[in-house]
Amino acid sequence: MPTADALLDVIGGFGAREDRIRHIRRLPARAARTAPWPAEVHPEVRRVFEEAGMPQLWSHQAQAAGHAFGGRHTVIATGTASGKSAGFLLPSLSSIMRGLDAPDGRGATVLYLAPTKALAADQLSALEGLRLRGLRAARLDGDASQEDREWIRKHANYVLTNPDILHSSVLPGHARWSALLRRCTHVIVDECHHYRGMFGSHVALVLRRLLRLLGHYGATPVVLGASATIAEPAESFSRLIGADCEAVTEDGSPRPAGAFVLWEPPQLPGLGEHGAPARRGVIGEAASALTDLICAGARSIAFVRSRGGAEAIADMTRRLLADVDADLTPRVAAYRGGYLPEERRLVEEALRSGRLLGVASTNALELGIDISGLDTVIIGGWPGTRASLWQQAGRAGRGGGRAADGEWAAVLIARDDPLDTYLVHHPGAIFDAPVEACVFDPGNPHVQAGHLLAAAEELPLTEEAIASFGPHARILVDTLTERGFLRRRPAGWFWTKRERASALTSIRSSGGTIRLVESDTGTLIGTVDEAAAHAQAHAGAVYVHQGRTYLVDELDLDGKAALLTRGYPDFTTQARNVTDIRIARTEWTRRWDSGVSLHFGAVEVSDQVVSFQRRQLVSNQLLSEEPLELPARELLTRAVWWTLPEHVLETAGIDAADVPGAVHAAEHAAIGILPLFATCDRWDIGGVSTARHADTGQATIFIYDGHPGGAGFAEHGAGHAPQWLQATAEAIEACECVSGCPSCVQSPKCGNGNEPLDKDAALALLRTMLSGHRLPPPQQ
Ligand SMILES: [Zn+2]
Ligand SMILES: [Zn+2]
Repeated sequence: MPTADALLDVIGGFGAREDRIRHIRRLPARAARTAPWPAEVHPEVRRVFEEAGMPQLWSHQAQAAGHAFGGRHTVIATGTASGKSAGFLLPSLSSIMRGLDAPDGRGATVLYLAPTKALAADQLSALEGLRLRGLRAARLDGDASQEDREWIRKHANYVLTNPDILHSSVLPGHARWSALLRRCTHVIVDECHHYRGMFGSHVALVLRRLLRLLGHYGATPVVLGASATIAEPAESFSRLIGADCEAVTEDGSPRPAGAFVLWEPPQLPGLGEHGAPARRGVIGEAASALTDLICAGARSIAFVRSRGGAEAIADMTRRLLADVDADLTPRVAAYRGGYLPEERRLVEEALRSGRLLGVASTNALELGIDISGLDTVIIGGWPGTRASLWQQAGRAGRGGGRAADGEWAAVLIARDDPLDTYLVHHPGAIFDAPVEACVFDPGNPHVQAGHLLAAAEELPLTEEAIASFGPHARILVDTLTERGFLRRRPAGWFWTKRERASALTSIRSSGGTIRLVESDTGTLIGTVDEAAAHAQAHAGAVYVHQGRTYLVDELDLDGKAALLTRGYPDFTTQARNVTDIRIARTEWTRRWDSGVSLHFGAVEVSDQVVSFQRRQLVSNQLLSEEPLELPARELLTRAVWWTLPEHVLETAGIDAADVPGAVHAAEHAAIGILPLFATCDRWDIGGVSTARHADTGQATIFIYDGHPGGAGFAEHGAGHAPQWLQATAEAIEACECVSGCPSCVQSPKCGNGNEPLDKDAALALLRTMLSGHRLPPPQQ
């Protein structure tokens, strides 16, 4: 069994790749803490758990179960593979067992919600593996047939489902589900940190609708959540479910000692836009390391963002292995979404038995994987949050659950962007900082309106029900009534239309969707958000869908469809847009010591895609620029902005001619860094910077939420603005390029072709803006 040091030698290529290593963090072993079985656990439930190899409980499992038995809503936020599910299974299965004595054998039911199908499938097979007599578990998702549904309504006592099905099917048709709902004793929200941003706001409102209906049928369920480590788990879970809860955060499971490596690939000259250097990609880097680990006999998994990336790592590793020892080539595989549970079981089993030594996986699968006890985890690019990072790294460390004996190593390979650059140069921001908050805003009126209408259709809305949606819901109900969607009667507010209210709201996207249709065959190959379609699926665009390349023939906005033809073009396309921003309302302003002012409020963004560029695939050489005629899109959202008076620009030594490049570069880098503070993606936010803005009369940098009404990201950024800008300045400073590259100030989504950008002026500007600000000491 390798030690962490031996693994580090292999990862570093025995010196050959040492120049990439920016930091090594040693993580000490964690000792086990056990606790007695709570007396309330049903003897049959205890027996099956003991037989499954759990003679005793870790302290967090017992603590969570104890809260649940006491009737308290609870969230368990402990590490990967710490056995969180026992915390919610012991109380919920005990309640099902006691319910078997009811006249019809179904005195208690449990609703389990998973964010992905893969996770629900895994949970179901784990439940079936327990062989608990009387447990009737079933999956209710989009694939369930009419007969399945019928059986679930009549017989199931443990239903594994998802928020989408609740929203579109169970809640609108609740009367048919009443036998199940009436007996519900536990609602389980697994991997609840997944519910963030706009999706999180929607799910929070779906849960309010669910809990209201359960109450209507006389059920008073305990709501249990499981989450990776997040900041303030009790607060965010309470916000998600709309009720107070307990949090269990002390992990009692053991973990062996390990080492975490931060890794920055070398810069290769001239590959980027405007001749900028670009870093070697994570795929090549991960394949090199994986090859050496396999040769050394270490069991490893490499996580990357895309399916194509996972396949490419597996292919490349196979080719590298063939040069060393052809016998090793079958010992690496790709593992990605779209596999059936049985296929995934086979890969998992092969990895456990050692027949497979290396697996390349999409990080979308991090939730549904039942793999732990590996020697090494390679993480190709910052996975978005510390929660995800630890979730992935937690797959390493052999111990079989009971004894901490197998040391492990994990590697984070930086992608070519400002956030990854910052993180590999600031290990404190990964290892010593509190985990990020799970940001979502159930109060967003754009999200709330649809759920209030759906709730009114389910049951008349009473004043009390409206209050449970939040403080501003009442005003919204009045507006919806004025517009004729709702009618007030003595029993409450009613839905007035014929169509289904829930059909008006899609909980996975914020606006309309465009269908992607193959021109020749009329086959529907997928959908894309209308907002993204303008920039990515305009006529003439090269569109990549699930790893396949298409050329867009036509974008029909009225027909909500884009027509595509499969192709293999040797060029890429990049849309150019014109964005205009107007301040609708300033909610607050703070003047900083440096003289700049920070503002937060509502803005109107008008965005028009006006042309696109075709560039040669390999050289990135500009081939042509072609105009487009697309309507402007209007977005009412929330933003944070800084106004920069003349004297600040002077102090920073920025000439009038350099102001546009300075504010633009600072805006790009700040957008790239915001996900460090709020759990968002850089694609969830947008920016506008200008040397003189019509509403402020000054140089201004705006950063706005890219979704109608805002998802809370800009607000969260505003609340942490000094730390955010500090990290932005440090990311720019840490980058070794001369005049800007994707690792610092270039943006992959710039509508202006990354021009003008002035890296040095941006850094000087940020430093000047922050001068006089007392920040917490840097974490290193
Ligand atoms: Zn750079
Ligand atoms: Zn830009």
